[in-house]
Amino acid sequence: MRSPILDYLDTIIEQTEDINSGALADYIPELAAADPESVAVALCTVNGTVYASGDTDHRFSIQSMSKPFAYALAIEDHGLEAVLEHIGVEPSGEAFNELSLDPETGKPRNPMINAGAIAAHALIADDEVPAVDRMLGLFSQLAQRQVGIDEAVASSELATGDRNLGLAYLLHASGGLTQDPPAAVAGYIRQCAASVTVRDLALMAATLANAGTQPNTGERVFSRKGTKHVLSVMASCGMYDAAGDWLTTVGIPAKSGVAGGIMGVLPGQIGVAVFSPRLDPHGNSARGVQMMQRLSEDLGLHLMETGRPARSSLREIRTATIEGQPATIYVLQGDMVLSSIESLVREIIENPPSTDIVIFDMTRVDEVLPVARRTSSETATKLIDEGHRIILIDPENTVTDFQDSQGRPITRWSTQQLEENSD
Ligand code: GLU
Repeated sequence: MRSPILDYLDTIIEQTEDINSGALADYIPELAAADPESVAVALCTVNGTVYASGDTDHRFSIQSMSKPFAYALAIEDHGLEAVLEHIGVEPSGEAFNELSLDPETGKPRNPMINAGAIAAHALIADDEVPAVDRMLGLFSQLAQRQVGIDEAVASSELATGDRNLGLAYLLHASGGLTQDPPAAVAGYIRQCAASVTVRDLALMAATLANAGTQPNTGERVFSRKGTKHVLSVMASCGMYDAAGDWLTTVGIPAKSGVAGGIMGVLPGQIGVAVFSPRLDPHGNSARGVQMMQRLSEDLGLHLMETGRPARSSLREIRTATIEGQPATIYVLQGDMVLSSIESLVREIIENPPSTDIVIFDMTRVDEVLPVARRTSSETATKLIDEGHRIILIDPENTVTDFQDSQGRPITRWSTQQLEENSD
């Protein structure tokens, strides 16, 4: 059975098909050679399950989405206080490559603009391992595969990197750079040229969503405190000079990169990544922003949306005898949003019910968001197609219009009917 969550991700791509505004980044010549039509989306739960649709294996350079990770590593190495001595946490409202430092502090305003990111990169260099190798090791640990560098992108940017070099000299002059400017910039540019897919990014984001622990390997990569801090800075400074607009509309900590990727983190729930290379005037993927907006609305991702639980909708699975026949009862609970019903859908796909009768007990369900409704009705359709009989116990009428996606009605019973018919 194909997961309805994948079907949903397909629709995100279909619904944004006609968005072809924006332009490829051309200040790094190699990025201008990207296929503008390429598109992909992935999400990863804090349990480590990845769902991806579109050009899921397409690799592109991570660019500025590497910045939160370099910053997080610098915090792990030196402690937050020491890193704050070098790099501020104030949104700059300026473009990512602005040639300026905070006039009051003389420091880069934050680690998400290039000045702060070059300073963070220099902070993670150690005597034995070059900073860029440490970053590649970190990306590989997070993505659970060997991440390498797109050498064509790296040399293309190195050849045109005067602006970053200018920034690094400015930092050096103010005493804020712990490496030689050319070495720091070369390393930073190679860090940005790490080649990733949306799957990789979703896993990386899920580690941040999971308080710094890689969800599949169980390794603690970043401390809880460091993760909280990095996510806060992503929320206020992650989307270039459109950060305020982003926080109000999409509402999750995120970081975009000039190759066309955007990575978002909903703490405690999921990591998300989208890719489409045409950029809007702020330097964010134009179609990617639209995809993220839809994901946020459909899945109830906005941080300021109250009362969305991180806990699973699946409370327990029971067996019973109904009208003399064995039945499986899925007992559901809480608000049904995509991240809370994911474990239910996965359970049904991985361990399909062995009984003909399948009962969903929604007595403890509070609210069902549209995508959760759609995903669960598709799951019901698939179960009916496989010969199961579905009975819904929904005394609060949380899903008044529930039917399978072929339009076939689903049997509804009251709690009393369930009791009367149980042996
Ligand atoms: N390597 C790019 C630069 O420094 C990253 C920019 C970005 O993705 O925002 O210009």
